[in-house]
Amino acid sequence: SSRIMLGPLVAAIDQGTSSTRFLVFNAKTAELLSHHQVEIQQSFPKEGWVEEDPKEILQSVYECMDRTCEKLTQLNIDISNIKAIGVTNQRETTIVWDKETGEPFYNAIVWLDLRTQSTVERLINRTPVQHFNFHKTGLPISTYFSAVKLRWLMDNVEEVRRAILSHRALFGTVDSWLIWCLTGGEKSGVHCTDVTNASRTMLFNIHSLDWDPDLCKYFDIPMEILPKVRSSSEIYGLMKSGALTGIPISGVNYISPDFTQILLWCLGDQSAALVGQMCFQDGQAKNTYGTGCFLLRNTGPKPVMSDHGLLTTVAYKLGRDKPACYALEGSVAIAGAVVRWLKDNLGIIQTSTELEKLAAGVGTSYGCYFVPAFSGLYAPYWEPSARGIICGLTQFTNKSHLAFAALEAVCFQTREILDAMNQDSGIPLSQLQVDGGMTSNKLLMQLQADILCIPVVKPSMPETTALGAAMAAGAAEGVSVWSLSPEDLSEVTSEKFEPQINPEESEFRYARWKKAVQRAMNWET
Ligand code: ADP
Repeated sequence: SSRIMLGPLVAAIDQGTSSTRFLVFNAKTAELLSHHQVEIQQSFPKEGWVEEDPKEILQSVYECMDRTCEKLTQLNIDISNIKAIGVTNQRETTIVWDKETGEPFYNAIVWLDLRTQSTVERLINRTPVQHFNFHKTGLPISTYFSAVKLRWLMDNVEEVRRAILSHRALFGTVDSWLIWCLTGGEKSGVHCTDVTNASRTMLFNIHSLDWDPDLCKYFDIPMEILPKVRSSSEIYGLMKSGALTGIPISGVNYISPDFTQILLWCLGDQSAALVGQMCFQDGQAKNTYGTGCFLLRNTGPKPVMSDHGLLTTVAYKLGRDKPACYALEGSVAIAGAVVRWLKDNLGIIQTSTELEKLAAGVGTSYGCYFVPAFSGLYAPYWEPSARGIICGLTQFTNKSHLAFAALEAVCFQTREILDAMNQDSGIPLSQLQVDGGMTSNKLLMQLQADILCIPVVKPSMPETTALGAAMAAGAAEGVSVWSLSPEDLSEVTSEKFEPQINPEESEFRYARWKKAVQRAMNWET
């Protein structure tokens, strides 16, 4: 059979909180040629704890690669044309593993996890230092970031403590774990991370773009276990076939001699979405609706510190000699996770897509407000002791109203971070660019436009996060197969949702939401 000639291809590993994807794009047109997705199990061993298995995460990457390559072969597309692989990943999630055996010492502690609440409270009581930390990291001390999770592992897991003493321990977020494994693990694994992922650890100085010895001392973390920090677009290492950390890799036959030469490249998922949405200009912003919700606004080459509860983070650094670009970020812990909760814990829907139908059937929450503060509240409150609340219930309330209230909660939380963003920058956003798994819910998108009172714009190509990762992978020095400019890609078609309710109605509902938030605060104190 004849092979289709397409020229260079670029791939992306998109390792999210709820699933892993592998996607292959045409580097000349940005067309998505094939992909595969596998769900990731989450475990909740205790109240507030959220874990994932690092080996399962790795295995899911291999499975997605296998299936995608099979699909490409069926399409007669030659996989040896894949010239680079980008990695984009759930940020902050913390893993410590043994550099001699490749075995993790403990499950991955997921970003949402609340077990470090008492550690955080202890640290916050040292207030002067907290201020100093905020200036260096752009982050408030919170359960969210890796340093406190790593601290917990060192304090509570004997194997981690012992491995650190015997210099066998490596720390990493999911990007580091995957890159280390894919580049040969205990034999030749490259232990690195990129500036965007590093900027979410609380150990990284976002001004000097390096690990900060004082912060490491503050959290009492030995610097030798930290990965080397690299830019977001450069060659980290070569993909090694087979024989990784003893994990059986099925269907390795797709790994042609060329495929073993695949280069890796990396960007945290929210940064990748910013790049994939072409937000390269100061002031451009996007909101991603996945497990959580993350609104990032590009602030250009200088970090801007928020006065309204937002984070300052490294947006990207697309090459070793390129300048870093920064972003203000509003993070919401629970967005799609509330849909999963309605499905798995309450059982009122069987699939996440059913939610839209249920909510659309009533078209109102009937005065019911649902603040899903399952992991405390993130931006703009940073209140770890908040807990979820459903209020405004009457005899009339049913599961459809609750479904509607859950969708509205995602929109109200976004409104809160957008308000904070507008106050910080002084220039209100005139429309919101969106992406992520939840944006397939049209009711949610319409509600969002109604509650923000500005249009919501969704690109027709939903895989913007992976596209961002693939773009920077393809553009890395030494690869250079990506020839499309942002202008070429701005032609991409999109869907626009215009506000349909009057602003007074919107303000009324938002005021009620704020009242509900106050009731959720300071619950676990
Ligand atoms: P992540 O990158 O965090 O893994 P995704 O962008 O893949 O997340 O989105 C998955 C999330 O979106 C899940 O939490 C799921 O519950 C939610 N979701 C997916 N489809 C819908 C839908 N049609 N309506 C509401 N929520 C949805």
